[in-house]
Amino acid sequence: MLTIQRNPTRLVRAGKVEIGGGSPIAVQSMCATATRDVEATSAQVERLRAAGAALVRVAVDSAADAHALREIRERTGADLVVDLQENYRLAERVAPHVAKLRYNPGHLHHHERRKSIRDKVAWLADVAARNDCALRVGVNCGSVAPEYDERHPGDSVAAMVACALDHAALLDELGFQAYVVSLKDSDPQKVVEGNERFAAERPDVPLHLGVTEAGLLPAGEIKTRVAFEKLLARGIGDTIRVSLTLPNDRKHEEVEVGHRILADVREGRFLSAPDLSGLNIISCPSCSRVENERFVELAEQVRELTSYAEGHDVTIAVMGCRVNGPGETDDADLGLWCGPRHVNLKRGATALGQFGYDEVLTVLRRELDSLIAAR
Ligand code: SF4
Repeated sequence: MLTIQRNPTRLVRAGKVEIGGGSPIAVQSMCATATRDVEATSAQVERLRAAGAALVRVAVDSAADAHALREIRERTGADLVVDLQENYRLAERVAPHVAKLRYNPGHLHHHERRKSIRDKVAWLADVAARNDCALRVGVNCGSVAPEYDERHPGDSVAAMVACALDHAALLDELGFQAYVVSLKDSDPQKVVEGNERFAAERPDVPLHLGVTEAGLLPAGEIKTRVAFEKLLARGIGDTIRVSLTLPNDRKHEEVEVGHRILADVREGRFLSAPDLSGLNIISCPSCSRVENERFVELAEQVRELTSYAEGHDVTIAVMGCRVNGPGETDDADLGLWCGPRHVNLKRGATALGQFGYDEVLTVLRRELDSLIAAR
């Protein structure tokens, strides 16, 4: 079997999984079920594992989620990762049950505002070390800590890379070595640039690759391939996740797509630079925070409704919740994010209001028409 030449990153262990140090590239995935629903989440963890996920991530947002995680842990042998979302303080409650903790440096300022970022990271590293957990510094272009955006106005990739480098340096200084880094965005080109710049500075740090909100198939796979092929061919990437918008009973397909991409790169089968111009629909892969089960259907309806505009360079973002929805739609021409009963709609930075799930598509069509006419 052919192998992919890799950068000489150091080895990080997360449970039974070895990341970096020449180990096989691990495919990861994330549950989209409500974490509090122990039955559904345990079943999804197992389904993802059976499809070939080496690590399965679960979002924890509350004490109830943390409590559920204990039960989920007892029901599966999968190596679990917790996504700390916005409440990093839950780390202590969940670390005994998982192999890795993911924190987003851009979310650390939400709690205990008087405590320094350094102290918060030191606390996280201490919790991880005491529980034999790895850490992932998960930087997203769309939610970089404000200080980095201020330091790099108009260059979101530079802001993302600077943030990732600072956190890597901080963990080194704290003597914590079991960490990996990710630099993600919904734009494959930014993912390539961010990871290349980071790897040039820190070739020793294992990288987890992902294109956020890649969206529905088949476009979601194509966008992911565009980024992964370029990076993997240059030896960058020790673990991957493909973030697709799929209903829960098909969630495991993102693991299959991940393995398919790796096999193709290994065999030298590359997609010939596809044209990514024209209508771009990005949509999140959903997670335990999704506010209405109609989210996936909504994303599909948006794609169907807007297909007439495929020749226009317009980006439409469809997000599953009101927590990340407003921020993650900032760069889109039209943005939608789900609430329990309504869908929020905005055009550029302007909020257009909340609409019922049955009426939002009519308003979206009107706005898209007017956007195209104005160009
Ligand atoms: S936008 Fe919300 S529902 Fe979608 S993946 Fe992000 S946190 Fe989860």
